[in-house]
Amino acid sequence: MEDCPPAVCDASDLVLSLVNSGSLEEWLGASAASDVTATAELRASLSVLLRAHSGCALDPGEVEAAEAHLRQVATRYPLVAVVGADGVALVPAQDGAFGQFARVLGAVTDLAYRGAWMRVKVCKNETCHRGFFDKTRNTSALYCSPACSSQASMRAYRNRRKAA
Ligand SMILES: [Zn+2]
Repeated sequence: MEDCPPAVCDASDLVLSLVNSGSLEEWLGASAASDVTATAELRASLSVLLRAHSGCALDPGEVEAAEAHLRQVATRYPLVAVVGADGVALVPAQDGAFGQFARVLGAVTDLAYRGAWMRVKVCKNETCHRGFFDKTRNTSALYCSPACSSQASMRAYRNRRKAA
């Protein structure tokens, strides 16, 4: 998966735009700035699953709570299947922020159908922790970039020397 198909890129870009957003107000757009708390909760739940994808040691209760919360979000902000001769699209039933939440879950669904959901991860470099899309052939990436990878291995090297 060196070059991901455009549909996968669009879906993972949308999920990562939320996970990595510096300002949730900005991500939501001015009209929906009052929904920041719900957006932060959605992001927190998605982040837990991304950390699970990265092989982080998580409390099973934490994962269950995140999954339960995402089920709630999916019920509250539904997607409608728009069926055409050439394909099917999952389209948010609502406008505004609520539509955005549905669109994110639609992107996750799309990624899962394409076998790419497990590839959306969180960088394991402790000073980074950004979400990223793992493009390695065997889904083995732990870091978002070569820079993070070398920072983390430098840190591990120094820690080993300290311990010795
Ligand atoms: Zn990183």
